[in-house]
Amino acid sequence: VNSVFSVAKKVMKIAKTIDEIRMLVADAGMADKKIGFVPTMGALHAGHLSLIKKAKQQCEFVVVSIFVNPTQFGPNEDLNKYPRPFDDDIKLCRKNGVDAVFAPSAEEMYPDKNLTWVNVEKLSEPLCGKSRPTHFRGVATVCAKLFNIIQPDVAYFGQKDAQQAAVIKRMVADLNMPMRIVVCPIVREPDGLAMSSRNKYLDAEQRKDAPLLYASLQEAQLLIGGGQRKSAFIKEQMKKILNISKLMEIDYISIVNADTLEEIEEVSGRVLIALAVKMPSARLIDNIMLDVE
Ligand code: AMP
Repeated sequence: VNSVFSVAKKVMKIAKTIDEIRMLVADAGMADKKIGFVPTMGALHAGHLSLIKKAKQQCEFVVVSIFVNPTQFGPNEDLNKYPRPFDDDIKLCRKNGVDAVFAPSAEEMYPDKNLTWVNVEKLSEPLCGKSRPTHFRGVATVCAKLFNIIQPDVAYFGQKDAQQAAVIKRMVADLNMPMRIVVCPIVREPDGLAMSSRNKYLDAEQRKDAPLLYASLQEAQLLIGGGQRKSAFIKEQMKKILNISKLMEIDYISIVNADTLEEIEEVSGRVLIALAVKMPSARLIDNIMLDVE
């Protein structure tokens, strides 16, 4: 019931232009609000919502960007078919207390062909960088642009894309960007599959095999817990599990130092175990991070 005593419901703003979002954020900044930023490509799921929730806990003004960034897609990748359920995304943002959505067009973000790129060397090269050689350059560049537009105090990323988080953290450190990066844990389906907008591409058969990624990571964790330290052996066991599926082609299985992303032969310290597989209709990634004595 509306009455003079009811608290005015906060209205979520949707900005399609850089000028609009800059104005919204400037107003919030003027009110001394801490600005939290969650960059996404939309098709929002519980993984994205966990980042929004974290941002809401830590910040007074939360901005979500929804932008399918063309520069991070390779020439034969899924840019055109990437899901864009914009109205559902807006509803989810509203329901989850987002203050402003920034949803620019590709023309707004890239009015001219980009001549300036942010390339985080070394960290962009291994793992997914091998089969997606220009991907992280596109990610770092769009994040640098978004950070310059929104100027958040904190930006939130998912551990799901572990290499992306490492690249962005390093970019922020190397370029002295005055903000903090928070990395949030992977949100999974009940059967272990890491949530991803690309899971929608899987047909029933592929979806049935997809939990093998996490099963193989759990096997690695078990082996390490049992004292196994040889990366080659662990990777071999992981491969056996993935090969249960007739539909998976392994892109890579890597055990790397979590900071440098360099391969390690003997598991010790903070390690990232990461893998990617190609299924007939989607490429899937997953990882776990372990602290090993
Ligand atoms: P995307 O829309 O796929 O570019 O993802 C936007 C952000 O959400 C990235 O920081 C992702 O790492 C994060 N994210 C995606 N899936 C998950 C998940 N299952 N759990 C946690 N974070 C995720």
